[in-house]
Amino acid sequence: MARCPLCGKPLDWGELIEQMLSLENAEEILRDREKFMKAFRDFVFRCPHCSGEFYGRNLPLEEAEKVFELLNEFRGSIDWENKKVKLKLNNLLALDTMLEQWDEKVKGQR
Ligand SMILES: [Zn+2]
Repeated sequence: MARCPLCGKPLDWGELIEQMLSLENAEEILRDREKFMKAFRDFVFRCPHCSGEFYGRNLPLEEAEKVFELLNEFRGSIDWENKKVKLKLNNLLALDTMLEQWDEKVKGQR
């Protein structure tokens, strides 16, 4: 789970990505994994809890990659007109982790 590196409170991925939607070439970035990861690492996010600012590279990059995949997997995941992320990214990430653990458990039993 992504947490603010300054105050430690949990962050919502949807909200983080929405901050990135203000980038001029956001549409292009969100379609290209390499561009996205680079932009993510260098992006200055603002924590909604403590208003502190930090770089994306201080967040779990593995989760950022999954977020990229989720956003590209689902059509209409972003409402570009209103600059809103329509997916419940945190829920999907939690589900993804759960399925992975379940998968490992099942494999372990064989
Ligand atoms: Zn914070």
